[in-house]
Amino acid sequence: MSYLKIENLNAFYGKAQALSNLSVSVGQGEIIAIVGANGAGKSTLLDAVMGMVRTTGSVEFDGAELKRHNTAFAVKQGIGYAPERFNLFPYMSVRDNLMVGAYTARDEIEKNLEQVYSLFPRLAEREEQETATQSGGERQMVSLGRALMTSPRLLLVDEPTIGLAPKVCLEIADALRRMRDDFGLTVVITEQNANFALTLAERLYVLEAGRVQTHGTAAELSQDDRLSAAYFGTH
Ligand code: ATP
Repeated sequence: MSYLKIENLNAFYGKAQALSNLSVSVGQGEIIAIVGANGAGKSTLLDAVMGMVRTTGSVEFDGAELKRHNTAFAVKQGIGYAPERFNLFPYMSVRDNLMVGAYTARDEIEKNLEQVYSLFPRLAEREEQETATQSGGERQMVSLGRALMTSPRLLLVDEPTIGLAPKVCLEIADALRRMRDDFGLTVVITEQNANFALTLAERLYVLEAGRVQTHGTAAELSQDDRLSAAYFGTH
């Protein structure tokens, strides 16, 4: 049964259509990757789940239709979002940035903070540091941590490896795997890095120009030319 079920989704920016008749299904406990080149519609898809863009079609999470509601409802239902540009407060500390996420889950602050620090010990060591002075990898960790502070059951992460060194990508992959294995989250990431997506996700959807080009298991898609075509944007 689908945990997150997106059906026939169309998204528009003014008259421009960014997603066309797109359907994606995510089971509880899966790690899913949405792969595509620049402009394929990856961010728009995650924004659409969060109710941040104008859409037609249906987005259901754990049986509830999200589209009738707003972003706050999606967060309350248990969807955490780590957007591509992080939107951290640069002159606030790591801890205070994490606390921004805790706004909706006040009674679980200590438990969530403990989870975040166990996933990212580096943040615990530097909780007083302003995020403006952090590395890109550390800022990604704060962004993921802030999403975890909302007590999510489903985590959406937009391009977790963008601009990061290979070693940091491995750390992030490890943390995302632990979020599923240790904390029981369902995880959806978007990626341009097809190799990273193949090593982390069980199933992948390949997006091109706002449409699902193909989808399948990591084993199936590692043999599929359309994945590298989407990665290199050669179609
Ligand atoms: P990237 O990897 O570069 O972030 P993406 O796959 O996430 O790309 P989107 O950002 O979802 O792609 O963009 C999909 C399409 O929608 C693109 O053609 C983009 O120019 C357009 N688009 C995105 N945001 C807006 C906006 N706010 N206003 C107008 N058009 C937009």
